[in-house]
Amino acid sequence: MGRAPVAVVTGGNRGIGREVCRQLAELGHDVVLTARDPARAEAVAGELGVDHHQLDVTDDGSVARLADHLAGRYGRVDALVNNAAVHYDSWQRASSADLRVVREAVETNFYGPWRTVLALLPLLRAARHARVVNVSSEAGSLASMGGGTPAYGTSKAALNALTLMLAAELPGMLVNAVCPGWVATDMGGPGGRPVERGAASVVWAVTLPDDGPTGGFFRDGRRIPW
Ligand code: NDP
Repeated sequence: MGRAPVAVVTGGNRGIGREVCRQLAELGHDVVLTARDPARAEAVAGELGVDHHQLDVTDDGSVARLADHLAGRYGRVDALVNNAAVHYDSWQRASSADLRVVREAVETNFYGPWRTVLALLPLLRAARHARVVNVSSEAGSLASMGGGTPAYGTSKAALNALTLMLAAELPGMLVNAVCPGWVATDMGGPGGRPVERGAASVVWAVTLPDDGPTGGFFRDGRRIPW
């Protein structure tokens, strides 16, 4: 019998990340739900019946401790879902932005995934065709970039650029960016589509076949413009 794939999800305590954990567990993955509040990580992982660990993606020490935990317990990571993000700053404009907000967004939404990939890279390399899924947004698409959400939009555009670079440098892995669509979460607010559908868009990229695409930007399994 094959080993269950080990899937690590950042920001797994609520919203899309929580639902990604639930769906991946249902599909038979060994899910490691991570959250910056260890009590929330433990409580939500308990509800879902999955493993958990503290992770603040802005904290080098926290990321290193997660890597140690994963190395000791699993020895590999088959899928990393970089989901955690902040600051959908629809109240701001680029021409009058508060750069402290921009810096916080970039620290979490861009350096966060980059820091996490760097720390977990030996474990991703230890897996066969590991998947890295960067949860991005159409708000980061240069093709549709306009006014509004300057911190969020630029941080996701940078994440998209990182996705392409990692995909080019890591040919054995499937590194993709995924937009979940507009989803009714704390970040998305009311009116978006159900969290199950947004999470399914992400889970699609985790469950790609070994010869699936890399270096793409997708929503609901279909390419969208960078
Ligand atoms: P939520 O605001 O509902 O959840 C965000 C999650 O990120 C929370 O678990 C939060 O943890 C976590 N997080 C924030 N900062 C950190 C940090 N420093 N370290 C670890 N975890 C952190 O957002 P969504 O579920 O809606 O969004 C999930 C992803 O989907 C994001 O990448 C978002 O940009 C993307 N997306 C969402 C859309 C939508 O319409 N909802 C549309 C397009 C993209 P805590 O509870 O501790 O704050």
